[in-house]
Amino acid sequence: MAGLAMPQPDGAVLARRAEIVSALQAIVPGEGVIADDTGMRPYETDALTAYRQMPLIVVLPETVEQVAAVLRYCYDNGVKVVPRGAGTSLSGGALPVADGVLMSMMKFNRILDIDFPNRAVTVQPGVTNLGITRAVEHEGFYYAPDPSSQIACSIGGNIAENSGGVHSLKYGLTTNNVLGLEMVLVTGEVIRLGGKHLDAEGYDLLAMMTGSEGLLGVVTEVTVRILQKPETARAALVGFSATEDAGRCVADIIAAGIIPGGLEMMDKLALEAAEDFVHAGYPREAEALLIVELDGPEAEVDYLLARVEEIARANNSGYLRVSTSEEERMVFWAGRKAAFPAVGRISPDYLCMDGTIPRRELPRVLAGMRALSEKHGLRVANVFHAGDGNLHPLILYDANLPGELEAAEAFGADILRLCVEVGGVLTGEHGVGIEKRDLMPEMFSEDDLRQQQRVKCAFDERQLLNPGKVFPVLHRCAELGRMHVHKGQMPFPDIPRF
Ligand SMILES: Cc1cc2nc3c(=O)[nH]c(=O)nc-3n(C[C@H](O)[C@H](O)[C@H](O)COP(=O)(O)OP(=O)(O)OC[C@H]3O[C@@H](n4cnc5c(N)ncnc54)[C@H](O)[C@@H]3O)c2cc1C
Repeated sequence: MAGLAMPQPDGAVLARRAEIVSALQAIVPGEGVIADDTGMRPYETDALTAYRQMPLIVVLPETVEQVAAVLRYCYDNGVKVVPRGAGTSLSGGALPVADGVLMSMMKFNRILDIDFPNRAVTVQPGVTNLGITRAVEHEGFYYAPDPSSQIACSIGGNIAENSGGVHSLKYGLTTNNVLGLEMVLVTGEVIRLGGKHLDAEGYDLLAMMTGSEGLLGVVTEVTVRILQKPETARAALVGFSATEDAGRCVADIIAAGIIPGGLEMMDKLALEAAEDFVHAGYPREAEALLIVELDGPEAEVDYLLARVEEIARANNSGYLRVSTSEEERMVFWAGRKAAFPAVGRISPDYLCMDGTIPRRELPRVLAGMRALSEKHGLRVANVFHAGDGNLHPLILYDANLPGELEAAEAFGADILRLCVEVGGVLTGEHGVGIEKRDLMPEMFSEDDLRQQQRVKCAFDERQLLNPGKVFPVLHRCAELGRMHVHKGQMPFPDIPRF
């Protein structure tokens, strides 16, 4: 794997493969265990396709009891486990390890309870994000966080990555819309966090689990809040001949006290690719395009659209078109939602980055990215949740050309460093995974990282769940709290550090 070290596979576990397969088959009979190369091949990567690794075994449990029994067996026998939903992670979160079981949760695909009076839906973790909205839309409800991958990604994966989407600016990320979870700990114990009730005493473990990237437990049930569809929603396409003007317009809209339902931005390369793919009617002549959606009562939407128009003009916008029907609004969004695959049509490969910055810094960071593009000799297409300051630069490269993947990764790392430098963070919604693991020290001090690992140790002392992800340096739990490097003498020199 290019440039990324993963924990060394445990030879003793590899040698016991046949025995582990038999034990898992006894827990999950029938087709619940996949142990042949052809059957396991679809699981060797997620949407960060530059990295591949065949797992030791794939297991597909169907019941909570099976999840608990598999985890208990792995815990007792020192076998690693990588939980997996639909495999759309862009940070390599679901990348298998050679000496670990890959636990796919996609057979957990049932909607368990729809409770309109409490505005809550309880589902199994393998239900797709869009599947929740589909189940409640006949009553005028929907589930707000809407990643572009919503047709495929699972709600379990959304919890693990704290996913967001174009509507997160106004309605929040996954963490703001989850009410309760059931999860199985690595020891096989089953715990429940939160529920339909408001608030709970004690530590807010529910919030901690959201975004825990499969490192703390396996989610087996999810209760989410659903919202009533707004009375009106209209979207405006706003074109600019300078990207920096578009960035300033975003900051000015929010500064004016307007919180759009969605506020997205595409640069020229991205909008042209999307237009060629979807024919959404985007202005090709623009250097940057904003999609601004206002929702709520009709009179409020009309008023706010007029305000947005004024702000756009003040920022030198030369193009503004407001949707006049629901069909047209959906077409405006179709281009944005298809922007990643659209960029995939103009380049053999791309790396999708994910950093977040204070939105005032948009013009500076966009200019900085142009300079970095020249430095690394690679093109970058920008598609992002501008209102949240959550950037998704797509770095275009060709994996068949020697050195291009490494150049793309170096470019990506520079972009994320720039995000941190201007007061932002390494990830907005795609998680750390393996992709940003080695950049964590850019953002966090050693004390910060050790404290985060103490939380990991409280849940998974043997470090069996999703190893090699998120933390750049592996600390044995026993040493946390007392490691002190004296004159270069590292204690516990036998611990693998990767
Ligand atoms: C084209 C495209 C567009 C995308 N757009 C967006 C976007 O707009 N916004 C956004 O936030 N993301 C986006 N993503 C990223 C991705 O879809 C999300 O991160 C999603 O939440 C991953 O869900 P998944 O089911 O595919 O999880 P996987 O990729 O299978 O796993 C992701 C992580 O979750 C863990 N996990 C999965 N299920 C469980 C479980 N039941 N219990 C515990 N841990 C679990 C895994 O161990 C892994 O760490 C996009 C991806 C693609 C390919």
